Amino acid sequence: MKILENIKLSNFSTIKIGGVAKKVYFPENLEDIVYLIKLSQDTNKKLIPIGIGSNLIFKDGFLDYIFVSTKCLKDLNLRQSGEYIYINVQAGVSFKTLVNIVKKYNLEGFENLSGIPASIGGAVAMNAGAYGSEIFDIVEEVYWINNKAELIVSKKEDIKYSYRYSQFQEEGFVYKVILKLKKSNKDISKIIKNHLIERNKKQPLNLPTTGSTYKNPEGNFAGYLLEKIGFKGKKIGDIGFSEKHANFLVNYKDAKFKDLKKLLEIAEEKVKKEFNINLEREVKIIE
Ligand SMILES: Cc1cc2nc3c(=O)[nH]c(=O)nc-3n(C[C@H](O)[C@H](O)[C@H](O)COP(=O)(O)OP(=O)(O)OC[C@H]3O[C@@H](n4cnc5c(N)ncnc54)[C@H](O)[C@@H]3O)c2cc1C
Repeated sequence: MKILENIKLSNFSTIKIGGVAKKVYFPENLEDIVYLIKLSQDTNKKLIPIGIGSNLIFKDGFLDYIFVSTKCLKDLNLRQSGEYIYINVQAGVSFKTLVNIVKKYNLEGFENLSGIPASIGGAVAMNAGAYGSEIFDIVEEVYWINNKAELIVSKKEDIKYSYRYSQFQEEGFVYKVILKLKKSNKDISKIIKNHLIERNKKQPLNLPTTGSTYKNPEGNFAGYLLEKIGFKGKKIGDIGFSEKHANFLVNYKDAKFKDLKKLLEIAEEKVKKEFNINLEREVKIIE
């Protein structure tokens, strides 16, 4: 298994902030993951899975966790059963790869998620979603390793998940996922293209970002609340809430973690004061 030492964590986070990791591990198979979970228990160090890093923010300075990148878990195969196609994907397979497959075979079920910069492991952990769909709409089974280093195969109905949450945020490592998609009569490539155009219009994709900072509170929008407290475009140092989309944090150049934390704390305090709403962070902060 590849291991990198003293490596910049900003390379593993799309917002490009973060200090130095003592080690980052790149498992290639189930045995490697089991070994790392045992290592985490033996050393009493928390294991942090890393996918694309599009929802992860690392603090500056030195971090000594068991960082596990899924970059080398890329196996993928397809099985057809009637009108359904089952895609068996390892955790590190990116949505970009899945987009190419659904376009090639004109499969429906994934199109609304197509522009999310995710790995399948990260998407399942976060229950990523967009345009009224979420990844669990198309998940059949998840192969995951629990904190006792045992491989568990869970059917969707046995998994706890909700809006931008799944049980894998607290326990275990997603190793492999079976997705169920259907052959479509619609023009899937066209739908995907339109979603990407829409995203480009609304999201600050020209700057390093982590997407939505906060979950939408029930019956409300985090972006709307941030705009109302005057935080659309609000900056501290080189970190700010985007002028294009108030709920997107962007790194204007050389953003510092301490400024980011301060900005979040002030925003949360103001929203609480003005609307009596506790904003819940969607981004995962590792410090
Ligand atoms: C421009 C932009 C647009 C975005 N748009 C959307 C959107 O429309 N909808 C949406 O839901 N999100 C969106 N996001 C957020 C992000 O893309 C999603 O949360 C995505 O699912 C994260 O996937 P990832 O592979 O990058 O996970 P990471 O950011 O690497 O990790 C996210 C969390 O999952 C955990 N994790 C990662 N892999 C595993 C694994 N194998 N097993 C267990 N836990 C794991 C990590 O430890 C971390 O807690 C956007 C982000 C950006 C930058």
